[in-house]
Amino acid sequence: MGTPSMPSGASRRLDDAQIRHEVIVVGGGQAGLAIGYFLAQQGRDFTILEADRVPAAAWRARWDSLKLFTPVRYSSLPGLTFPGDPDSYPTRDEVAAYLTDYARHFELPIELDSRVRSIRRTDGSYLVELDDRTYEADQVVVATGPFQVPFVPAIAEHLGPDVVQLHSTAYRTPTDIPEGVVLVVGGGNTGFQIAEELSASREVHLSIGSRQTPLPQRIFGRDLFWYLEATGLIAKTTASRIGRRLEGRDTLIGSSPRALRRRHGVQLHGRAVDAAGRTVSFSDGEKLDADAVIWATGFRVDHSWIDAPVFDGGGRVVHRRGVTESPGLYFLGLSWLHTRGSALIGWVKADAEHIAHQIGTFHRTSPDKTPAPQHVA
Ligand SMILES: Cc1cc2nc3c(=O)[nH]c(=O)nc-3n(C[C@H](O)[C@H](O)[C@H](O)COP(=O)(O)OP(=O)(O)OC[C@H]3O[C@@H](n4cnc5c(N)ncnc54)[C@H](O)[C@@H]3O)c2cc1C
Repeated sequence: MGTPSMPSGASRRLDDAQIRHEVIVVGGGQAGLAIGYFLAQQGRDFTILEADRVPAAAWRARWDSLKLFTPVRYSSLPGLTFPGDPDSYPTRDEVAAYLTDYARHFELPIELDSRVRSIRRTDGSYLVELDDRTYEADQVVVATGPFQVPFVPAIAEHLGPDVVQLHSTAYRTPTDIPEGVVLVVGGGNTGFQIAEELSASREVHLSIGSRQTPLPQRIFGRDLFWYLEATGLIAKTTASRIGRRLEGRDTLIGSSPRALRRRHGVQLHGRAVDAAGRTVSFSDGEKLDADAVIWATGFRVDHSWIDAPVFDGGGRVVHRRGVTESPGLYFLGLSWLHTRGSALIGWVKADAEHIAHQIGTFHRTSPDKTPAPQHVA
């Protein structure tokens, strides 16, 4: 991996600033690496463009103590087993190291520090534009992640300047947070884990806007994901009734409101609906004066830099298992692209293999044979 490291192979320089590949993958996280593995197996001419200066950037940017909720057994990309005890839970740094090793092991052509600014369809191919160069490709895989733009609710603006506030993406460790009362906003896995960690040294409150179904991490000595595999639930697709029901429900893994309150002394509140100065108001009428607020309020996906007729009125990608109606344009790694596993490290390979197969059978001049897209993500 280099900055940039041009792959060998059939890439062709068109002029000083324009380089041609059969396939361009945008994003060098687990999804980009997984599709890269299959494209390399096909002997295809491709490159992976990664915005960050380091590999596995999204994982490196998460908090220090993060442990995966998927055990080692279910954390491998295709072709290379995640090292360690299969029943242990990898740390953030172990995932970053694994992904870095993965790219090296398969000699995947990754160009770091290469943010794609736009993708445009032109005369049967795609122009992929960066600040300093432009690529042309027959096919493009967008693998820029399911969690892109940190979302903070508008009420954050009403907090006074003396309240320290940050999105969960900026949270690393408790020592970064001032002494005093901390409010964590967001009842998902991130909010629960940060609230639990801070509760060892602070008075912590958690605002839960919508309750997620709590599931134990381990049941009768086996990991939750063993059951999801054994029952086939992890592979239920968005086309199935059960898949559609599951898609609408987020799950809280290895934690619960009751455990957080009883074991860790975290005080629970309803949805945060307003703020003024140091005071945050909740939907149940309660109020809290906070010294710090951590917004574990999720992310938005931003594909506004892609100019192709593949979005619905709400800006969501219309596709069938990542295959769009724009010939040769694919999306990989989005939440529920196809199944619950689509955005998970241990299951992204199935969608990656599917898209690699589509890429392998793509004929530039032939009309698109893809069945009408059915899903939005
Ligand atoms: C807190 C947290 C905990 C999680 N825990 C688990 C877990 O335990 N197990 C599990 O399986 N999954 C977990 N996930 C979910 C998922 O595995 C990760 O979000 C994973 O990082 C998604 O991989 P990805 O490759 O799709 O996207 P990302 O890892 O986000 O990678 C996308 C890459 O694209 C790059 N990029 C973005 N825009 C551009 C652009 N315009 N040009 C070029 N490059 C660009 C980014 O720099 C990034 O490197 C967790 C997610 C979060 C947020």
